[in-house]
Amino acid sequence: MQRVNRPKLPGRAQAYLDGKWQATNGTLNIEPAWKSARQTQTMRVVLQTLQNMAGARERCMYCVDSHGSDIEHFWPKGPYPERAFLWPNLLLCCSECGRFKGSQFPLSGTGQPMLVDPSAENPWDHLDFDPDTGNLTARYDVAIAAPSPRGECTVRVLQLDRREAMAEGYRRTYRRIAARVEQALAADAIEPQALAEELRQADEHGLLGWCFSAVGARLKPFGDLRRRAPDAWAACEAAGK
Ligand SMILES: [Zn+2]
Repeated sequence: MQRVNRPKLPGRAQAYLDGKWQATNGTLNIEPAWKSARQTQTMRVVLQTLQNMAGARERCMYCVDSHGSDIEHFWPKGPYPERAFLWPNLLLCCSECGRFKGSQFPLSGTGQPMLVDPSAENPWDHLDFDPDTGNLTARYDVAIAAPSPRGECTVRVLQLDRREAMAEGYRRTYRRIAARVEQALAADAIEPQALAEELRQADEHGLLGWCFSAVGARLKPFGDLRRRAPDAWAACEAAGK
């Protein structure tokens, strides 16, 4: 998972969502309204905006492995129909993540979502990556001396630690990034911006935010880069944000 930045919707699409929100206010069964709206040209604009927001590869915002083909409601539209047409509640997801999540949406004791919203926060605050298995896991939270509960919940609901094809994709991307950093370290000089750009191109799974963080810095090629070429480290760190 990686942080995605939400742009403004084109004016007409936003006005359409506003109108739908008003028209469906108080509706208990949102499905028919959503289904008919989904057929419109305007909702195709919304989908396209989400795909652009996800990056050049248009990957699912949850797993960052499969193609993002569906408009996903972070707060599920069944139990929360009043959020069905709110732009900040819409994400892009693949059919597999959509199926795993289903209507699961655990809340904390104070009513906050337990799932990580990649458009609202940095997922790496709650998630960790295992280069050996390629799995995503919950990040250890020093403050509570335990794995992040929100990380654990996100991994469990989306099954981010038991999807073989996804894990293989993450491992491949990680190896590519690590190999490129090792290559840079073996060269006489490192051009920070060029390296950052190459890594950005190679990063199919949003792993730069993890590799160039306090956690990733503990591993061989990244820690070495941080010590030997702090300016290159900083450029790569910025590329992961
Ligand atoms: Zn997915």
